[in-house]
Amino acid sequence: MLAACDHNRTQIIARRDGVDYVECLDCRQIFEAEDLEPVVVEEEEE
Ligand SMILES: [Zn+2]
Repeated sequence: MLAACDHNRTQIIARRDGVDYVECLDCRQIFEAEDLEPVVVEEEEE
């Protein structure tokens, strides 16, 4: 288990109805991007 993950590294794994779903690369947790505004997504792969 990882304690106190800040979810600093995330990637977008899906988009649905205008909502981005992101996965934390550190703890593997998945969020809606809107729930985690401080998240900075660095990867923008096309
Ligand atoms: Zn995390």
